Amino acid sequence: MTYPGPGPIANAPLIDTFGRLHDNLRISVTDKCNIRCFYCMPEGPINYIDHSEILRYEEMERFVRVAVGLGVTKIRLTGGEPLVRKDLDKLIAMLTAVPGIRDIALTTNAVLLEQHAQSLYDAGLRRLNIHIDTLDRERFHHITRRDDFDKVMRGIEKAQAVGFPTIKINAVAVKNLVEPDIVPLARFGRERGIEIRYIEFMPLDHQGLWDKRKVLTADEMLALLTNEIGPLEAIPDADPRAPATEYRFADGIGRIGFIASVSKPFCLNCNRLRLTSDGKLRYCLFAIEEMDVRELLRNGGSDDEIAAVIRENVRRKWIGHEINAQKFIPPPRPMHSIGG
Ligand code: SAM
Ligand code: SF4
Repeated sequence: MTYPGPGPIANAPLIDTFGRLHDNLRISVTDKCNIRCFYCMPEGPINYIDHSEILRYEEMERFVRVAVGLGVTKIRLTGGEPLVRKDLDKLIAMLTAVPGIRDIALTTNAVLLEQHAQSLYDAGLRRLNIHIDTLDRERFHHITRRDDFDKVMRGIEKAQAVGFPTIKINAVAVKNLVEPDIVPLARFGRERGIEIRYIEFMPLDHQGLWDKRKVLTADEMLALLTNEIGPLEAIPDADPRAPATEYRFADGIGRIGFIASVSKPFCLNCNRLRLTSDGKLRYCLFAIEEMDVRELLRNGGSDDEIAAVIRENVRRKWIGHEINAQKFIPPPRPMHSIGG
């Protein structure tokens, strides 16, 4: 299908029908992962996307150049697990060299970070979000179905030793499971100068495990942290479109954030688009529809045609997800295949 070319509005910013400006692109570089977090992946065999359908780095870079021309300035690489993709540092270097990109970040489970931290840094990466839900080895194994706790801890240590200026930890908050982890993670972050971001469990597991009663909410975690560690002060939003609500401990040591997608959806501030590893464009984590750009990238599509698909995707963007509505329909892909 073709969409109207960008025409006279070629340089207009990506503003959707609800007035939201889009300058943030998340690229999933693979749907593969080396661990099996139960809220993201099934335990059994997985039908991964065929290698031939996965975008090559050159195709991702071209897409980014077009997106930058439409006002995108921030990129996050995610997956699946991005570090299972070969030579990720090369992609980072390619994207760092794109004029107009102001910020590149990586979300990783850190299992392979120890061996890659230095080359990622050398390629120009400065921002890392490391995903670990617990400092308890047994619970780590239970959640991820893999025994890689030590590797993750060594990955965090290595990233700090290499000197990444911004390291945050992402922790998924599942009720009746991770309550004992909330406070130790915050203490760990306070000791190491790492912000902990608690992410409410979202219905993305594709196995039907999610239930609203299994969501440990931001308010519940805030109460736990305040009682056990001390008062927290809300930090006024530096960027009101950032998904996390951030707090600092009143004693001045450490900060935390909550991504309260379920209890306090932030859709009205959303500035994000997503490109899947097989070249589909999505305007929301929970979108049902997606638009193909791989065909254009592979088979002679022009930059204008790619730009037209991006504009059309933004134009179609809905007001927000409906996790809390009766009629909620989970996205047709699981989290590891969309890119969190
Ligand atoms: N493998 C990398 C990782 O785990 O960070 C990157 C991809 S993962 C899909 C991106 C983020 O999604 C993770 O950091 C995790 O916090 C989050 N995530 C995965 N499944 C989730 C779920 N069902 N609800 C909330 N967050 C989830
Ligand atoms: Fe892998 Fe990340 Fe999904 Fe966990 S959350 S299974 S680490 S892709």
